[in-house]
Amino acid sequence: MTLLRRLALLLLLLASFSAIAAAQQEPPLRSLTYHLKMSRPVSHLFEVTIEVELGNDATARSIDFQMPKWSPGRYAVFDFAKNVQEVSARLACPAGLDCTLANPAVRRVDDQTWRVDIAHFNLPEKQPTVFFNYKVFGNDLSGTFSQLDSRHANFNGGSIFMYVVNHKPDPVKLRIDPPAGWCVVNGRMDKSDQREWRFPNYDVMIDTPTEIAPDWTDNEFQVDGKRYHVVVHSFGDEGGNRDNLVRDIEKIVRAETAMWGPPEFDSYTFLIHFAADDHSGDGMEHLTSTQIIEPGALGEEGVYGSTLDTVAHEFFHVWNVKRLRPLELGPWDFTRPLSTRGLWIAEGITNYYGHMMRRRAGLWDDTALLRRESQTITGIENAPGSHLMSAEESSLSAPFLDDAPHAQQTNLDNTSISYYPKGELIGLVLDLMIRGKTNGKASLDDVMRRMYEEFYLKSPNASYYLRGRGYTTEDFERVASEVSGLDLHGFFKLYVRDVTMLPYDEALGFVGLSLVRERARQPFNAGIGLDWQAKGSLTIGVVHPNSPAEDAGLQEDDEIISLGKKNISRENFLVSLARYRQGDRVPITVKRVRKTIQTTLLLGVPERLEYRIDERKDATPQQKALRAEWLNGS
Ligand SMILES: [Zn+2]
Ligand SMILES: [Zn+2]
Repeated sequence: MTLLRRLALLLLLLASFSAIAAAQQEPPLRSLTYHLKMSRPVSHLFEVTIEVELGNDATARSIDFQMPKWSPGRYAVFDFAKNVQEVSARLACPAGLDCTLANPAVRRVDDQTWRVDIAHFNLPEKQPTVFFNYKVFGNDLSGTFSQLDSRHANFNGGSIFMYVVNHKPDPVKLRIDPPAGWCVVNGRMDKSDQREWRFPNYDVMIDTPTEIAPDWTDNEFQVDGKRYHVVVHSFGDEGGNRDNLVRDIEKIVRAETAMWGPPEFDSYTFLIHFAADDHSGDGMEHLTSTQIIEPGALGEEGVYGSTLDTVAHEFFHVWNVKRLRPLELGPWDFTRPLSTRGLWIAEGITNYYGHMMRRRAGLWDDTALLRRESQTITGIENAPGSHLMSAEESSLSAPFLDDAPHAQQTNLDNTSISYYPKGELIGLVLDLMIRGKTNGKASLDDVMRRMYEEFYLKSPNASYYLRGRGYTTEDFERVASEVSGLDLHGFFKLYVRDVTMLPYDEALGFVGLSLVRERARQPFNAGIGLDWQAKGSLTIGVVHPNSPAEDAGLQEDDEIISLGKKNISRENFLVSLARYRQGDRVPITVKRVRKTIQTTLLLGVPERLEYRIDERKDATPQQKALRAEWLNGS
């Protein structure tokens, strides 16, 4: 190391030390209170006032308020600041004076930040109180955004509440002033008519989604002395299914707490909306609650099962992601997209257990579970992106993948995979490998419990935000190796950090199952993925790389008019294609930007395989016993 480099390093160290010192020196504000009103629901405008009492030794000449760019649990950047309007501020003021702070006392300093210039007024007051007001538009029913309309207010705090820069760790109060006749409910209720809450910090406040409406319902049950609320707001017919739904949610809670042990909260709330609008759908995890939005009505076919699917997934997050969490998941930096390699664990393994818990709760039989895992394998192994993107790279790409809006055309359909199904399959294979190689002495359940104990329960608090500390994927690899007594480095290298196909056969073989591969029944899809969103027309949504469709010069957005000289529709496309064989030359006509184009598809080998998990005929009693332990969770 040269002297110059040592000097540079010393300067760098000094600089970072003083930066840390500065951050530590920021004294907490005397108080920080959020007031939320919704005086005109039909306008979709939430009215927010942030009341800031500056500290005794306040020397600040300005104070910055910042809107998050995204919110925890959804990693795409949505820039909530775009819905902020009518920003103003005033100082608490001696009688008779007008202390309204006008421009330039309040000014926007960047896309997400507003600055209140306190020094603008030379008031004698040494401990001024600043009232910072704004409205924020919200008309999306989702776990990520917020909605205010004539029916209800439902908010995800990150999309409506600004934080005070450098004071995210400060304790906060929230006061909600609901419209007359509307009742408030969230996952932190001490009494039913509560209007005021105290939170240890901003991060926990925005972790508390809240529903305000005249007509939601609340069903209760208890497990291990903990209270569970199922709050339902239905915009369609429930078909008499609500009582059964509550009973089945209780079964899921029992199955998941049987694996983890009793959770640390006293009560937990499932906030469920049946939107009945055919498009609003979401599930979002929180520390003591979850927001679930189903696009259908509870009385409609398929909605009941879909709700339980989301319930099983979101409730598993009570442990995996909300408390046991990747290093980068709390406290958060809301000024830039999150970057973590661990979402295949946080989301993918949660997906695995979400499905497994429906089996352990007795809501699915073995066949239903294995069918679901077979579908997941079929999806991942046929995705072109699974040859290009690893589970960890998918996690890092979350800001582009997780319901992210794209103004620009992308090739992500061909280049990416989701960390949800990929992580689910890593969980499945890892669980079976550990159970198989240890003769049932250890399992992924043990790995998850050890992780929870080491990082959440037993680690000293690493930040103001929450108990314990976050883990890295290397930590997970180490704990999995320790618990199983296996060296799992090779497994992580090949299947987590690289794109090698998971060893399904070996893993399933331990429990007397095997993976059957078959050419898909739709033999020649020719490398065309249809755009099912396109209304009416038969439009190409994606052209797979190196496929017959690409060879024929077809492109996404081409509208298919005829195939083999016969007119074609959405309904008969696959049937028509199935009449042909490998090697056939099929004329195809498409419409592209007002031009009609004729070309020929040379049908290749069917590219799609279907996977099915089957019972092995030669399964031994030991393998069957191991399978029963896996399915029943012992
Ligand atoms: Zn509602
Ligand atoms: Zn999730």
